[in-house]
Amino acid sequence: MKFSRQILSSSFSLDKVPGWTCPWCDKSAVSGKKDDFRIIESVQSKSQHSHPEWEPFRITGTFCGTLICSDENCGEQVVVSGLMEVEERGWCDEGEYFSSYEEILTPLFFVPAIKLFNIGNNIPIAIKDAILETFSAFWQDLSTAGNKIRKVCELIMNDKKIVKTYIDKNGKRKEYSLHTRIDFFGKLKKGEREQKAYGLLMAIKWIGNSSSHVNNSLTKADIINGLEMLHHILELLYDKDYMRIYKLGREYNKKKGPLKHPLFGTRHL
Ligand SMILES: [Zn+2]
Repeated sequence: MKFSRQILSSSFSLDKVPGWTCPWCDKSAVSGKKDDFRIIESVQSKSQHSHPEWEPFRITGTFCGTLICSDENCGEQVVVSGLMEVEERGWCDEGEYFSSYEEILTPLFFVPAIKLFNIGNNIPIAIKDAILETFSAFWQDLSTAGNKIRKVCELIMNDKKIVKTYIDKNGKRKEYSLHTRIDFFGKLKKGEREQKAYGLLMAIKWIGNSSSHVNNSLTKADIINGLEMLHHILELLYDKDYMRIYKLGREYNKKKGPLKHPLFGTRHL
């Protein structure tokens, strides 16, 4: 599945509710209409209405809504909730200024959780579970999401059998840092895909490091970047089709001509 940055980075208005990938069928989109949403202005916001400088764009609150899968055979429903604020939209027409107000909604929770990208069937279950945790954290807390991405990298290193601990000079067992483990992975004599994954794993590690610091300057864009890189790492290291195509390329380069026997049988013809 293609990684969609746009859907992750934007809030939305009720006139243009986005579609998110259905968590059940993984194919169609779950979305909603205006009537499927309830907007709730907070008591604190209501208390400001009597202020002499009050304007509609000061309204804040929350929202909840129900999304439904566009595939009638699936019909999965997802509950979404989050924060609401009001924005003023202004325009000029023949020298005169006009404005209108629009509720802007920022999702914080999806139940069941929305998958931010499709997790292939070849991904080990421990890694898959950690990725799903990352998806939930993404909407709520950037530092937690960054730490979860880091945890996924640790699990990938475990799966690739990269050594985890060592005995120090005092005879005590110590854990290698993620940086050192990724370096070990990069120094293994592996193929082009592993080398590409190595560079991306190192880059993601910096995002994870920043998440652990109290005064980090991590932005939503950093987490989206991290997720996009993670998505590609999974393709590089676990996607069987991806591996098959690279193997085909290697075979043709080796033979320097057509292959005498089909490499993968008729299933892939
Ligand atoms: Zn569906």
